[in-house]
Amino acid sequence: MTKYRTRTQAIHAGESIDPATKASAPNIAMSNSFVMSEISGFSIDAFGEDKPFVYSRWDNPTVRMLEDKLAALESAEACSCFASGMAATSAILNTTLKRGDHLVAIDVHYSGTAELIRFLRDSVGIETTLVDPTDLGMIEEAVQPGRTKLFWFETPSNPLLTVTDIPAVSELAHQIGAKLVIDSTLATPIATKPLELGADFVVHSLSKYIGGHGDALGGAVLCNSESMKSIRDHERVHIGGVLSPFNAWLIARGLATLPLRMPAHTASALKVAQFLETHPRVTRVLYPGLESHKGHEIAKRQMQECWGGLLSFTVADGKALAQRMPTHVEIIHYAVSLGSHRSLIFWMETEEMLRSSFVLPPSLERQYREITEEGIFRFAVGLEDPEDLCEELTKCLDL
Ligand SMILES: *Cc1c(COP(=O)(O)O)cnc(C)c1O
Repeated sequence: MTKYRTRTQAIHAGESIDPATKASAPNIAMSNSFVMSEISGFSIDAFGEDKPFVYSRWDNPTVRMLEDKLAALESAEACSCFASGMAATSAILNTTLKRGDHLVAIDVHYSGTAELIRFLRDSVGIETTLVDPTDLGMIEEAVQPGRTKLFWFETPSNPLLTVTDIPAVSELAHQIGAKLVIDSTLATPIATKPLELGADFVVHSLSKYIGGHGDALGGAVLCNSESMKSIRDHERVHIGGVLSPFNAWLIARGLATLPLRMPAHTASALKVAQFLETHPRVTRVLYPGLESHKGHEIAKRQMQECWGGLLSFTVADGKALAQRMPTHVEIIHYAVSLGSHRSLIFWMETEEMLRSSFVLPPSLERQYREITEEGIFRFAVGLEDPEDLCEELTKCLDL
């Protein structure tokens, strides 16, 4: 396909008009298997993009349509979709690391990934050193040449919105022959294309901005064709956590408007962040679009002024507010997740997070406590009118 611009690619890449029906919108191919016109092998060797569809755990036309769209937007050679962001995350960890390998990972990031990495130490014997991504010296000290096989960063990160300098960490990884993974769920390809900045793998939770409507779980891995081979063969065909064609269709429908939604999320989140910064009860606001944000300069270099919809903030006497909030909010749902057109807010209590998700070495734990105090509100700003969101927040903050 001609190299079209982003908004055109989000709509047309991967799609083709069905010759039988001439339907303009893509059909959903819910079939498990496909009728073959000639005999074929029945193993992984019969599977490939140049081969006819055989069975939907291997490859499915609707899932492939979404994969082609994502690959076009990320400028990636290959994309493979999975049933959730965590299935995509596991697929990369399983294929790139084995017993005895060492991983360098961002200290505070998506809690499920943080918990999985800790589980891998005991179950598979993969040791991890956690680092503050803004401290390049700390990353240099953490690497173990010969043993460190993978760097895992998430930018901006969930829930602290820490920004990682992708070209800088990519250089550190490549110096010692390690690969770099960027979880780009919060940025999306509209803000950042990590592969162009030096990353080897990009992982997305499609359940967030890319799907965009809070109604379908999915995940994706993007990398070069060579690295994708073992991910497809083992993680997809053998482990089998594939994306349903129906979810692929919903997510592709969401993705078509991603280039329009991300600037709208950004404009609203910036308004809300600026409003919160001036509120007397608010003690700290974390949002990469704010000039006060520690990572704002790096974000300006790698986020195209598209800071996304997620922000976090702390308030005086936060726990008491959190306890009253669920029954006092109306348009803002008190719920986990992010990336939906609906606004979602959630309180993350520091003690609980440090016990269950972020088990940190002392200096990093001290840093986390300093930022989050008693706990932090994570606010996924949706596409409602930002004035209505600020009014509802004002009512909450007065509780
Ligand atoms: C939600 C999320 C995930 C996990 O995705 P699921 O689709 O819920 O499995 C991974 N990384 C980040 C940054 C996320 O926000």
